[in-house]
Amino acid sequence: MSVLVYIETPKGNIKKQGQELAFYGAQHASNAGVDCVALVIGQVNDPGSLGLFGIKRVIQVNENETLDFDSQVYTDIIAKIAAQEGATTIAISHSSNGKALLGRLSVKLEAGSVSGVTSLPDLSNGFVVTKSVFSGKAVAHYNIETPVRVISLMGNSIQLQSTGSPVSVEKISVDHAGSKVKVIGRKTSEGIVPLPEAELVVSAGRGMKGPENWGIVEELSDALGATTACSRPVADSDWRPHHEHVGQTGVAIRPNLYIAIGISGAIQHLAGVNNSKTIVVINKDAEAPFFKAADYGVVGDLFDVVPKLTAAIQKFKQHS
Ligand SMILES: Cc1cc2nc3c(=O)[nH]c(=O)nc-3n(C[C@H](O)[C@H](O)[C@H](O)COP(=O)(O)OP(=O)(O)OC[C@H]3O[C@@H](n4cnc5c(N)ncnc54)[C@H](O)[C@@H]3O)c2cc1C
Repeated sequence: MSVLVYIETPKGNIKKQGQELAFYGAQHASNAGVDCVALVIGQVNDPGSLGLFGIKRVIQVNENETLDFDSQVYTDIIAKIAAQEGATTIAISHSSNGKALLGRLSVKLEAGSVSGVTSLPDLSNGFVVTKSVFSGKAVAHYNIETPVRVISLMGNSIQLQSTGSPVSVEKISVDHAGSKVKVIGRKTSEGIVPLPEAELVVSAGRGMKGPENWGIVEELSDALGATTACSRPVADSDWRPHHEHVGQTGVAIRPNLYIAIGISGAIQHLAGVNNSKTIVVINKDAEAPFFKAADYGVVGDLFDVVPKLTAAIQKFKQHS
């Protein structure tokens, strides 16, 4: 028996989400008294570094292959390794690729599955994991009763710790059916931490009045080293790109700090952000619904408050 974690490696790199999953898998395996095996697919930079997060064995499949993501091909490979390793828990990241894999893996392995889990499995009475439901208004506890389970881990759900040291990597070759997907182009945002991985997010809404005013949001974001986001009407009006739109129909995030500027706090917006650890709201309307979800709130005109906040942060950084 073992725990298998499939680590995504965009552009051959292990990102924070992958490190969190490795740590999660190692902790779960330790609690269950079994081994945790990490699986990477294709060309990967330094897969042995997963040992830093408690992984004892890393399997690299088809190390010389450059494989575009195709959920059928990846399901095939992960399922083969899961069977080979006798894995009873298969954990993957709750990313867009992970969401595409979860259902397929679950069917292929005849496994019960829960997506977007936020806790280590509680093994005291079965296999119970938690996830946030009803737009973050409640936490559900799921007991998976099948002998094999597939779960996807929500980003920023576990505090990453370095508990081990680099390990050697077992390189193996796996036959799989070729991909039916042809990638004809790819657009990536360079130089910024993608929203699902961001620990600090500065977000703004229709209170900004227009795209020409976004400079103050970007200055605050630069001062903090944060990723920028926006409400849906802002993206729909083309004030900001769609990949910045957070909420029920946008990206769901769990940063350590979410600063909401000129956003009312409609339920559909909160659905994607209310799992943030600390929420700061800046709004001139003291009755704005967002204040109910806020840890800290500033009632004031954003055009006055935001530049002052940025200046204070810059001053603090100069003196620290
Ligand atoms: C099916 C469905 C799905 C949706 N999905 C999403 C989603 O994923 N994400 C999302 O964001 N929305 C979503 N929406 C839209 C959502 O209901 C709201 O309409 C939207 O979130 C409002 O955006 P906003 O807060 O930027 O704008 P508004 O509601 O117009 O709020 C602007 C806020 O700015 C404040 N303000 C104005 N001027 C200033 C100033 N000078 N200083 C300080 N504060 C100021 C105002 O007091 C107000 O609170 C969805 C709606 C539906 C029906």
